[in-house]
Amino acid sequence: MRTVIEGGWVVAWNGRGHEVHEQGSVVFEGDRVVHAGGPHAGPADRRISARGKLVSPGFINTHVHTAGNGGDYLLLDMAKNDYRTANYMAFAAPLKGKMAPPPAEAVAAIRAFVFLHALRNGTTTIIDVGGLRGDWDGYARLVDDLGVRVYGGPPFRDRDTYMDAQGRLTYEEDVAVGRARLQEAVDFGRKLDGAAGGRLRALFNAAQVETCTESLLRAGKDAARAQGAPIHTHAGGNLVEFQRIIEEYRKTPVRFLADIGFLDERTLLGHVVFTTAHGWSRYPFGDDLAVLAERGSTVGHCPYKYAKMAMTLRSFQRYLEAGVTLALGTDTFPLDIVSELRWASILAKTTDGNYQAGQHRDVFNAATLGGCRFLHRDDLGRLAPGAKADILLIDLDHLGAGMYADPIKALVDAGSGRDVHTVIVDGKTLVQDGRLTRMDEAGVYAKAREATRHYWGNVASWRWDGAGVERIVPPAFPLHRATPGG
Ligand SMILES: [Zn+2]
Repeated sequence: MRTVIEGGWVVAWNGRGHEVHEQGSVVFEGDRVVHAGGPHAGPADRRISARGKLVSPGFINTHVHTAGNGGDYLLLDMAKNDYRTANYMAFAAPLKGKMAPPPAEAVAAIRAFVFLHALRNGTTTIIDVGGLRGDWDGYARLVDDLGVRVYGGPPFRDRDTYMDAQGRLTYEEDVAVGRARLQEAVDFGRKLDGAAGGRLRALFNAAQVETCTESLLRAGKDAARAQGAPIHTHAGGNLVEFQRIIEEYRKTPVRFLADIGFLDERTLLGHVVFTTAHGWSRYPFGDDLAVLAERGSTVGHCPYKYAKMAMTLRSFQRYLEAGVTLALGTDTFPLDIVSELRWASILAKTTDGNYQAGQHRDVFNAATLGGCRFLHRDDLGRLAPGAKADILLIDLDHLGAGMYADPIKALVDAGSGRDVHTVIVDGKTLVQDGRLTRMDEAGVYAKAREATRHYWGNVASWRWDGAGVERIVPPAFPLHRATPGG
């Protein structure tokens, strides 16, 4: 079946870069684009009007955790009254043995919500950088049912983290457990890479640079290489991690990963905020950005998440000019990749004190082409003959938006995930008129909300200090909750 999307602002790929065509068209057959650019005169089985809309390649979101309720992820990160687990310092960890894994139906509810929430907001390729464990066949079925494109797999590490009764973060090493988890990832890749009609692909997930021993990182990279799969780890994400790596190896996380052969073109690193380029590191030796550029690894930049913690990359522009491949991710809620374009752009400007930094072009490239390099995909993040039909129609002409001359600038300056009107993945329309086509949205949301409520209700039982959610993240105003039945 041949579908023509016509009448909108089409972002087409010319082989070297994106170009925008007013009243352009995109034509696709099955899961592949056959034309992108100017008007198309040929016959069509179906015509979709994109009048007043941007027709964009789907965005690649390099930082999605399908453990929507795991750890302290939904506790709004940095609004917490807890310096030591403020996330730019370290992450929260439970008292040992006190945090029970959520029931299987809660895991499924959260996974579905996270996938669809990201999709609804403009993400067509989800990079799952670590979520709740277990039921990987169910995970693959979910990807199949929902129609989303996902790179993921079981995360592995051999140092689990706990708090003791005084709130001290401890790392407990168990090499055998790490090996078993890596084996789980290897098995996942063997069995499920290419499942869901090719939309599920294996990604190796070495959880965090400091929660994996050097030997596990090496083994993980070897296993990823053997399967021809990409690998991810969090690095330069918080100050405790940065210092722990310095302490253990007398090197920065980036230098250490480069020296053990972990960094190459197939490697994605989450955050990479604390490097030799960041003032808080106060580390005057070497040049991490040059190392990243030379190895060709990709930085998954999550601007809003870090802005909430009163910080950012130093800086988007500096990384770019050093030749580092930058991609965008959301990490925190909302998983609104459209808004991340604006955060990346604005923070680049304020960080450098230079309004020429963080150009619209560069942040749009980061959200599309940036994610393709470590995936080794030249058929994603662009609209051209042969590319996957992963397409967004984003509403630009409405009273809530501004007047504009350039639709890309309008998108970056004023767009949000809620402006996403249509989402097509692999040629299938998954969102239409801003609503899911395959699922009952209200049902997905209600189940996830229930799972989250249950999780929040249990926080005090695993926190070292017994604090509940309202003490850790107080409401903005005194909040009078409804009493059940009252
Ligand atoms: Zn993360």
